[in-house]
Amino acid sequence: MQPKKILNADLHCHSVISDGTLTPEALAQRAKANGVELWALTDHDEIGGQQRAAAAAQALGLPYLTGTEISVTFAAETVHIVGLGFDPDDAALTQGLHATRNGREQRAREMAASLAQAGIAGAYEGALQFVGNPELISRTHFARFLVESGVCRETNEVFRKYLTEGKPGYVPHSWATLRDAVSWITQAQGIAVIAHPGRYHFTPNEEYALFTEFKAHGGQAVEVITGSHTKQEFVKYAETAKEFGLAASRGSDFHSPDESHTDLGSLPFLPDGLTPVWELLAGRVR
Ligand code: AMP
Ligand code: MN
Ligand code: MN
Ligand code: MN
Repeated sequence: MQPKKILNADLHCHSVISDGTLTPEALAQRAKANGVELWALTDHDEIGGQQRAAAAAQALGLPYLTGTEISVTFAAETVHIVGLGFDPDDAALTQGLHATRNGREQRAREMAASLAQAGIAGAYEGALQFVGNPELISRTHFARFLVESGVCRETNEVFRKYLTEGKPGYVPHSWATLRDAVSWITQAQGIAVIAHPGRYHFTPNEEYALFTEFKAHGGQAVEVITGSHTKQEFVKYAETAKEFGLAASRGSDFHSPDESHTDLGSLPFLPDGLTPVWELLAGRVR
């Protein structure tokens, strides 16, 4: 594939292997139908769906990059680092992701205990009904249970009232370090990308530290155009990408036709004057 500046790339989404509701095959079809020209499936802390996604994409003639989204703890907050174009058979990456998933089960039981204290019983079993991968029980699955059981009307309401800091169902958790996540990706020949920077609640100093340390560890890109950003944040993080000499990525963060406001392939193109992350990944496209 010839790298193009203007490309309908969608390099961030989730399947039933993490907290999405569609299979890798259904996502590939949806991406193709929506005009996506380069696709990556980026399940949380998991690469178990990569072979299926790559095979489905190939059958559709849809260029594909391997992907994942690693949970990291930085400055007492959870940050997400996307990896693209890595070798999915890399042992250290596989082991690192396994270690990062470890602990979700215990966390889920503690979340359910906290919800029970707030009068919501059976949340662990309820969330499990929505889980496609037993190693990957997430807050999204609890959110689906709280909607299905009528506690909240939709998942956004869940995250306003529950499962977030200071609210019932919130359990602090220590994820991977920034250094480890970036190293696992880059040592597997991949490119590390700061996911949706506009979503974190950092002070300007903390955000500066995140970008500086990410670069020092070998990180090379940042999501500028994502379903999580406002138009103002598109502009802000285009500037940040230039300031730190990072390439720019673009991805919907699509999870579900019923929940996600941004569909696969439906975002604005990258702004001018940025290096698209796919220019660094031309040799890695399948
Ligand atoms: P976890 O990895 O278990 O902490 O779950 C994180 C996931 O919860 C994210 O990847 C989103 O899919 C979902 N999530 C977090 N905050 C929100 C929110 N405000 N609205 C909707 N989904 C959210
Ligand atoms: Mn998610
Ligand atoms: Mn994320
Ligand atoms: Mn995501």
